[in-house]
Amino acid sequence: MITRSPAKVQTSGPLLASDADEKASWQRQLSQAIRSPEALCRRLGLAPAWLPGAAQGHALFEVCVPEAYLARITPGDPHDPLLRQVLPLAAEGEMPAGFVSDPLAEAAHTPRRGLIHKYAGRVLLIASPTCAINCRYCFRRHFPYDANAPSRAQWKDSLNYLRDDLSLHEAILSGGDPLAASDRQLAWLVGELEAIPHLKRLRIHTRLPAVIPDRIDDALLDWLAASRLQKVVVLHINHANEIDDAVVAACQRLKAAGATLLNQSVLLRGVNDSVDALAALSERLFEAGVLPYYLHVLDPVAGAAHFDVPDGEARELVADLRKVLPGFLMPRLVREIPGEASKTPL
Ligand code: SF4
Repeated sequence: MITRSPAKVQTSGPLLASDADEKASWQRQLSQAIRSPEALCRRLGLAPAWLPGAAQGHALFEVCVPEAYLARITPGDPHDPLLRQVLPLAAEGEMPAGFVSDPLAEAAHTPRRGLIHKYAGRVLLIASPTCAINCRYCFRRHFPYDANAPSRAQWKDSLNYLRDDLSLHEAILSGGDPLAASDRQLAWLVGELEAIPHLKRLRIHTRLPAVIPDRIDDALLDWLAASRLQKVVVLHINHANEIDDAVVAACQRLKAAGATLLNQSVLLRGVNDSVDALAALSERLFEAGVLPYYLHVLDPVAGAAHFDVPDGEARELVADLRKVLPGFLMPRLVREIPGEASKTPL
């Protein structure tokens, strides 16, 4: 069994979140996040029967949930769709055939430490090994972040890789969650990327605006708005209840800084596996100024099989969703297949 602690602090490289600078509000909130199954069950008033399973799941992949996210969960309801995304279960120890530690075979596409190059024209940089929340279905729950936390010299190596490949037009900041890195560090990295003439776009894959909306603060908006690169922020939101007024305000701030906002979701059993839930998500995203982009079927990662929705059921759901939503609110149902040149529509 593979375990990791994705919420731990990075210990090398220029993208450390623990600068000597005074901590921002979001950093204080993150440092106070709930990180034990006992505290999670107590905070949400769950029956004691949930604790043993939560402890078993936590031993495989640690709990991490900040208060700003907890506040959107209905206390005492074990079926709350937000709770299901963060509550560890004993089922995470089951290992059905086909569920593996690296479902996307990313190790085969890592030419530099912290740099994944799978698709033409763009590369993905692991800008932070840290997340603000540990989602139980995460396809990178076993990712070897320790082996992909570049030192400053290794970052230079990755940047040279981008400089040398004139076919690259887009850099994608990922993680962990790239916005878990400090603004000083992100401003440094984005400055380096801007200096590469053939790069046109900066894409940021992040869940943080929906987890701790205060992350979208002035310090972040300063470097983002100043960048010459076209900015695309791809949020990760799975349920309409995740989008409260603070999240809407964070989205509006990102838009005002010049970012195009898209959302990718994962189709998750017990979270959003109904037409009503998916329609409400698309409607609420649009109210927040975000366009639905992808609806991923679950990547078969070990520990998350209980979230799986079979492809046939997923297709039926999306066909029914199309009957109630305008086309521009329809996410594309996709699967990521290792070795394919793009995501595969289902
Ligand atoms: S889904 Fe995203 S935010 Fe959640 S644990 Fe995985 S990388 Fe972190």
